This record gives sequence, structure tokens and C-alpha cells, in this order.
Amino acid sequence: MLTKVNFLDRLFRKIGVLDPSGPLRANPRIITGIVGFHLLALLACIPWLFSWTGVVLAVAGIYVFGTLGVNIGFHRLMTHRGFACPRWLEHSLSVLGSCCWQGTPMNWVAIHRMHHQHSDDPEDPHSPNTSFFWSHMGWFLIFDPNIWSINTYDRYARDLLRDRFYKKLERPRFWRLVHLIQWAVYLVAGAIVGAIATETLEGTAQMAMSFLVWGVFVRTVLVWHITWSVNSVTHIWGYRNFKTKDNSRNNLLVGLISNGEGWHNNHHAQPRSAAHGMRWWELDVSYTTIRIWEKLGLVWDVVKPRRDLAKNLTEEEGNIGGVEEPKPASLKLPASFASSADVSSGGEPKNIVPDAVESSVPVPR
Ligand SMILES: [Zn+2]
Ligand SMILES: [Zn+2]
Repeated sequence: MLTKVNFLDRLFRKIGVLDPSGPLRANPRIITGIVGFHLLALLACIPWLFSWTGVVLAVAGIYVFGTLGVNIGFHRLMTHRGFACPRWLEHSLSVLGSCCWQGTPMNWVAIHRMHHQHSDDPEDPHSPNTSFFWSHMGWFLIFDPNIWSINTYDRYARDLLRDRFYKKLERPRFWRLVHLIQWAVYLVAGAIVGAIATETLEGTAQMAMSFLVWGVFVRTVLVWHITWSVNSVTHIWGYRNFKTKDNSRNNLLVGLISNGEGWHNNHHAQPRSAAHGMRWWELDVSYTTIRIWEKLGLVWDVVKPRRDLAKNLTEEEGNIGGVEEPKPASLKLPASFASSADVSSGGEPKNIVPDAVESSVPVPR
């Protein structure tokens, strides 16, 4: 828990990012992680670390970790329950999403449900009504005691709080393990490929580092900015199929680079729909993946979009088009709000979540 005013707080207050009288604080761990990863990604500019295989790994990683882990796992499945699947698949997707350093599954889901409940209201955790930078990544660098608390998890992600696997992922040692394994896999794979291709020690080291830099550092930064663009860009620029009460937009660029998440106005109108693209040009690779899984029998109960609502949708026609998402029971504030952590922590240590909030690098979106 951040209690003392640190030098970053003083800096942020000086430049007007933080209100000196408010509860928000700069989070040194997260800021160090974000800045560190951006600097590590710049290693890609060193010619010795370039390889076309590395570039392919970065692009493929956007799909594997960003699309499968964040878009499908964290977002469409765990946050909105847009489809059902076996527990092993959900947990696997949650590990892929965790590799993206966007926060733990519980943390990501809680923040995103909060965003849907308060979209572009003062309580929205990342509305561009504050500023573009705030909605894109500024909110991610800040510790807000009202958000980073067991009460928030209890209120917005109680379903995940009941799952022992997700509670384990909240623990710093498991969190670190996920990332260490990820780094090790890329390094070892690169070393094997380098050794076979060049049969030299330098070639082995070069390819191992190239895999790590492009496959992990560059990919992580790219996935960050793609995800964050959904919070920032698609609440400012783009067209609207639905007249929702927030400022959400469908943005062509973000829609394409995010594999479907950028059709954000559609999503705010029909949050539970597993599909975000509604018109023929609104390509949605994430939904295509879900449909293929459905055909294979891997997933079921896929929530289909109300495409009829999107046929002639313009604001001028006054189409409100939105389909209200039923509020899960977990959104109801328990009467004993202050002590609700006792209710939801089950047989696990009661301080498991606060510890993780304090210790893990991540951040929700
Ligand atoms: Zn939104
Ligand atoms: Zn959503």
C-alpha cells in the first residue's frame, strides 16, 4: 500500500497530473515497469538484434497473447461471459492474457466492468474526458485507493474471486513465475534455432536475444498500445452505429489493428455479444476465432449480436440500438461493504488480494 509521498508524487503534483489534495498517488512499481519495457523494446533498433523470425514472433504474439489472451480471454469471456468454454481453456487464456502485463485477470476484469458501468462518467477509471493521456496510459501509472482494493474486486469480480486459480495468479510469486517462464521459453527457443541455423556461439546468443527482444519486449509494448487505444482513441474518434449514453466510437484503424476490439461503440451497445463487428467491413478476427472454436465444439453458448439493430443505424434516425447488459449479482453492493473481503476470500488468506495489488507490476485497463 502506498502511504508515503514519493518523489514521483511530488513531480506529478508539480506538473499538474495529480491533485495535491486528492487520494491518487504515483505508482513507482508500475511506472518503472512501463518505462522499463519501453526502453527494452528500443533494443530492437540495434541491428545485431534484428531477425525476420523475431518480427514474425512479434506479430504472431499480438494474436496469441493480445487477441487470444486479452480480447477473447480477459474481455469477451471473463468480463462479459460472451461464450462458455471448459475451465482449462478459460484458465489457459487467462495465462496468455497475464503475459501481457496488463494486470492480473481479476484486476483487469474488475476495472473493465467498472468502465462499462460508469462509461465517460466521473467514476470511469479511464475516460478521455480527463485527457487523452489519462485515458491511454496515465490512469495506469497511478495508484487509486478507491480502485485498487479488495472491495473493488468483491463488487466487480466476485465470480473470479471464488476461483482458486485466479486467486493464485494474484500472488506475486505466481505472477513472477508466469513472466519468468515466458522469458525463458523465448530465450531457449531462440538459442535452439540459432544453434541449428548458425552452429556458432555468437549466432546462438544473437538469436536467443532477438527472440526475447522481439517476441516479448516489442510485442508487449505493441499489445499495450493497441489495448490502450481502445480506451482512449475509440472514446474520441470514429463513427457510431448506436446512440449509446457514452462517447464510444467505432474506429477503423483500432478495429483492424486490435483484431476487432476497436468496434467499441457496437460493444458498448451490446456488451455481452461475443461479436464486436456488426457491419460487413467491421472485421473481427477475435469473433472469427470464437466461431471456429464453436464449430469445433470447443466453446458453446456464444452470445450472438443483434445485427438487425445495426442495419440502418444512425444517430439521425434516433436509433438507440443498445441492448442492456444484465447486471451480474456481483455488481450489487453488499450491505456489509466494509467487511465484504471476509465473505469472498473463502478459505484463502484474507490479505491475498491487497498483497497482490501492492506487489504486482501490472495494471488494468
Ligand atoms: Zn469503452
Ligand atoms: Zn467490454
